[in-house]
Amino acid sequence: MAGTTGERPATARVIAEPAAMRAEILTARAAGRRIGFVPTMGALHAGHVSLVDRAAAECDDVAVSIFVNPTQFGPHEDYADYPRTLEADAETLRDRHVRWIFAPEAESIYPPDWATRIMIDGPARRFEGEIRPGHFSGVATVVCRLFLAVPADVAYFGAKDWQQTLVVKRMVRDLGLPIEVAVCPTVREPDGLAMSSRNAYLSPADRSRATALAESLALAEQMWIAGDGPTALERAMRDHLGSRGVTVDYAAVVDSESLEPLAGAATAVALVAGRLGSTRLIDNRQLPPRRGTG
Ligand code: AMP
Repeated sequence: MAGTTGERPATARVIAEPAAMRAEILTARAAGRRIGFVPTMGALHAGHVSLVDRAAAECDDVAVSIFVNPTQFGPHEDYADYPRTLEADAETLRDRHVRWIFAPEAESIYPPDWATRIMIDGPARRFEGEIRPGHFSGVATVVCRLFLAVPADVAYFGAKDWQQTLVVKRMVRDLGLPIEVAVCPTVREPDGLAMSSRNAYLSPADRSRATALAESLALAEQMWIAGDGPTALERAMRDHLGSRGVTVDYAAVVDSESLEPLAGAATAVALVAGRLGSTRLIDNRQLPPRRGTG
């Protein structure tokens, strides 16, 4: 029964080998257990924990993967410096009904002579896909690989990375992967900043400027409700971010499913990305439905 806690251990077992991980999941599923999977890169915070809690509420067993995926980082990005805190992460997951932590070595995910990559277009084309070439190919490749190692019933992703959720859902649909994708709300700091492992890199001054992302999205929502159109919202978000010292990568209002320009009665999402010092932050907000696009 989903949510049964009696059979769930306080401490997760850490498994490194994909084949061993897969065998565990298949055995549990054969016994009729519903399995939830939360893929992460570790350095766990309350945003990740919200995904784990949702999985634990909806499933009998939960697997969390912790893997800093080299193929989704560009050559000048922070792969080498990305925080790796497996022990602290295991502690964070204690008593959260996580049965397995899948923490593979890079070589078991990418054998030395690996030559296979998933290419994805559609929702991967713009925004993060444009600014970080190869990023979504790396994401799709590792998520597919992780789904094979952790053949769960349902995988949980955060709306914080809205474009990523669309990319994963499209890959699952296009390849017919036998897994459900659930999207969970963004968890924020009390001042509105979306939680992110990268927030730890911010200097105190940049940390206080970082609220500009959530503020610009709230401003966009107010203007949207007041009847303004995408162009006005985009300009206002850009101006606000610029005035707080954020170097804007993009500030856009688009169709929330296709990420293409708004047309007709499509639902809209506001997306922002920008840099403070050497730290890059992204955020987004779904805009309330209204007739037409204004
Ligand atoms: P990451 O470790 O950054 O790859 O994130 C792992 C998962 O946690 C992804 O599905 C993210 O979208 C999700 N996530 C990260 N930050 C948050 C947040 N603040 N709220 C909700 N989910 C999040």
